[in-house]
Amino acid sequence: MSSAGTEHNRMIAEQLSGLISSGRFVHAFLFCGGDRSAREEIGAWFAKALLCEEKSGRPCGRCRSCRSFDSGNNADFIGTGLPEGRASIGVDSIAELQKKLSFKPVGGKYVAVISDAELMTAAAQNKLLKTLEEPSGEAVIILLAERRDAMLDTVLSRCSVYVLEEAEKDADPALLEAAERLHSLFESDAPYYRKKECLSLILESKEGTKELALNFLDIFEDVSADAAVTKASAAGMTAAELAETARRQIKQGHSVPYTLKQMCLGMKARR
Ligand SMILES: [Zn+2]
Repeated sequence: MSSAGTEHNRMIAEQLSGLISSGRFVHAFLFCGGDRSAREEIGAWFAKALLCEEKSGRPCGRCRSCRSFDSGNNADFIGTGLPEGRASIGVDSIAELQKKLSFKPVGGKYVAVISDAELMTAAAQNKLLKTLEEPSGEAVIILLAERRDAMLDTVLSRCSVYVLEEAEKDADPALLEAAERLHSLFESDAPYYRKKECLSLILESKEGTKELALNFLDIFEDVSADAAVTKASAAGMTAAELAETARRQIKQGHSVPYTLKQMCLGMKARR
């Protein structure tokens, strides 16, 4: 695994690698959570490792299978997902996949990856269920989905489910600056109106206020948690907890200005 992987995702890759070497695994996997690129990356890595002729648990990168995988010509790999110009993955896409799986693979087995699997209609998932229940040969089906709850319970029960973690992104410099300013005001016990100034960037934004606020709270929580560790700041710990609460409330639909105000008012530096 490379860059998009967090420590947690690399641990998942290790587990998967162990499964391949042991040869004992189910024939359907669901990777959900994380960001799209992390899901795509682990899905491709796992597919390549499953197809690798060395069977060492990870892609060797040298065998015929690995090389054809890299050039996008591995006949035993089937990649599918949202058809162009469509809003969902329908039964026709699954029928097409099942047709491909009915032919004999070149190597030992087929590995199919379904990207954006959360966009499969219920009918498509039901159709896929048949393949999950009675896989043709040794075929392995890998589903990549944003959310686990978008999948039918019957599909989930057939899959080995792995929840990925979001890869760290570089923070927006303006939000980072505002978060650092707010944290230092918190530590110095500055009055509310000064803390509120740090939030103007979010409160005055017309579009994506909720998204922006959640993004800001993530950064603020990181800044506070860092301060708690590096400067043994008691204020840092409370700030991280307040940020966590605020984020949960905003996700539940509480008003952004009200929640952020409550967060600032709750900031009392403990000394
Ligand atoms: Zn290989």
